Amino acid sequence: MRSMIKTKRYFIFSNDRLLVPAEADLSAGIHLLADLAEEIFAEYAKQAVHIHSNDDVEHHLVDMQKEILEHESVRSISLREVVMTMPKADFQHVAQAWQYAVFLRTHQFCGRCGSRMSRVSWEMAMHCHTCNHRCYPRVSPCIIVAIRNGNKILLAQGERQKESGFFSTLAGFVESGETLEEAVHREVFEEVGLKVKNVEYFNSQPWPFPHSLMVGYLAEFDSGDIQVDGEEIIEAHWFDIDNLPNVPPKYSIAGRLIEETRKRMQKKSV
Ligand SMILES: [Zn+2]
Repeated sequence: MRSMIKTKRYFIFSNDRLLVPAEADLSAGIHLLADLAEEIFAEYAKQAVHIHSNDDVEHHLVDMQKEILEHESVRSISLREVVMTMPKADFQHVAQAWQYAVFLRTHQFCGRCGSRMSRVSWEMAMHCHTCNHRCYPRVSPCIIVAIRNGNKILLAQGERQKESGFFSTLAGFVESGETLEEAVHREVFEEVGLKVKNVEYFNSQPWPFPHSLMVGYLAEFDSGDIQVDGEEIIEAHWFDIDNLPNVPPKYSIAGRLIEETRKRMQKKSV
């Protein structure tokens, strides 16, 4: 028989970091957020925003903004630590909570008439009672693509990865009026000057930095010579799949695209 009592979880963000119990083992996932609530939550109860429920759980958000909570029973972790340590499904709940926090912060006033907006009680939206404009959390689709050529994969280094020396698959935001596949062709051509073929959807991943949805593709090299744009991309090369440079870890969609590319190449060579 199903229990009638739902578990309440509070996603509490302080200074853009998630609060967790001080002693928590993060690999145990978000179950730990229920304990946190009991200890320190009372003080912040009035600010809680309901963000998600199903038959068993209720999720609430508390955004303390820049306020830093000092309490011996809690510590704060960055979203990057969440993505690296928590189970994937749990990370997605944290990502959702964070994206709602960003949404609520950035929609206090109406973009059409400038009046103060109010939160809609039955869906995640902000509404302007002066002009009836309604806003929903922004999701920005971004394509990410692994390109293969025989047993080589194209990996690039952007300005941001220069310091870490790390090479990754190409990625870029989808523009208005463009299909995802068109974005793949355009981004690849703009960033490295290549044409690709056999573009195939792989998987997707919400990426709350701050509100992207990464849509993963696999593609094959068609034609062209690598020519980097020198701005977004500073270096790009074909790497032998068995001799890769530093690449993104497997919890990220880039890491999974590289793994899938490796599998495809192994299948072909059998
Ligand atoms: Zn308005």
